[in-house]
Amino acid sequence: MSKRVLITGAAGFLGSHLCDRFIKEGYRVVGMDNLITGAMMNIEHLFPLEQFEFYHHDVSNYVHVAGDLDYILHFASPASPIDYLKMPIQTMKVGSLGTHNLLGLALSKGARMLIASTSEVYGDPLVHPQTEDYWGNVNPIGPRGVYDEAKRFQEALTMAYHTYHGLETRMVRIFNTYGPRMRVNDGRVLPAFFSQAIRGEGLTVFGDGSQTRSFCYVDDLVEGIYRLLHSDCHMPVNIGNPDEINILDFAEEVLALVGNPAAHIINKPLPTDDPKVRKPNISKAKEVLGWEPKFNRAEGMAITYEYFKGVVPVNA
Ligand code: UDP
Repeated sequence: MSKRVLITGAAGFLGSHLCDRFIKEGYRVVGMDNLITGAMMNIEHLFPLEQFEFYHHDVSNYVHVAGDLDYILHFASPASPIDYLKMPIQTMKVGSLGTHNLLGLALSKGARMLIASTSEVYGDPLVHPQTEDYWGNVNPIGPRGVYDEAKRFQEALTMAYHTYHGLETRMVRIFNTYGPRMRVNDGRVLPAFFSQAIRGEGLTVFGDGSQTRSFCYVDDLVEGIYRLLHSDCHMPVNIGNPDEINILDFAEEVLALVGNPAAHIINKPLPTDDPKVRKPNISKAKEVLGWEPKFNRAEGMAITYEYFKGVVPVNA
């Protein structure tokens, strides 16, 4: 019998790509999502498959899955700054109560649990690039605190299950990732810029655009997660692309790629506690997983642009 994996947040951007990968590798996949930010469109193609099942469920409530489970991947959470501003309590609950429910399920099934942590555990970092041994600079009561602290709690709880119960656990710290199936209006920089450029609107650069991010194409991220799950490393591992760019230059890149003469750059205020820099140090992933990103930004952006052209309604 093939292995069976539970993926929470299955209808989301990362969750749906993970479902695809595990199906491709011959696993039986149980997808779970409460659909507050996920979209059925992302997993519709999996429903005809015998190896795929779907539960419409909120993991912040008690989770029951009948039958065996070999792995649990916890990817359910609002994941963009505007989502967790709109849903602060749900964001905290899914990272804390949701994680607790799933750790309990993993223990009862003898499953290995992998949690989706984040570069946000480093907050507005004072160490650059960020290494896994950096403890971070997080404002617990700022608008991003609900996400950052939920994810930090998630790591602490997962480590406690590992040390106290001997549960097999894995933790991936995910840096900015992009690709097809990002929600057009999730407020993150790449969907915002692509939809604004395609519609011929102003690209909303927050602040002066000097803040940096490092963008990883989704297939690279999925490969890193797949390797981490099957590795013997229970400590957190950064997965991201260290190719750093500031947001103003990124806006220029999107303008050049889309080539819409009506599109232009406008400035909006910088959100509270917006990290000034972000770039993963991926030495550990290289050493422990033999992993590094394969897609450069030009390749990943070209694929992603094709996707957004299909989903962004163009203004007449
Ligand atoms: N950003 C921007 N314009 C937008 C959306 C985001 O300039 O319309 C900036 C934001 O201030 C941040 C960076 O782009 O510095 C990345 O933001 P995003 O929300 O994608 O993710 P974050 O890395 O902040 O979680």
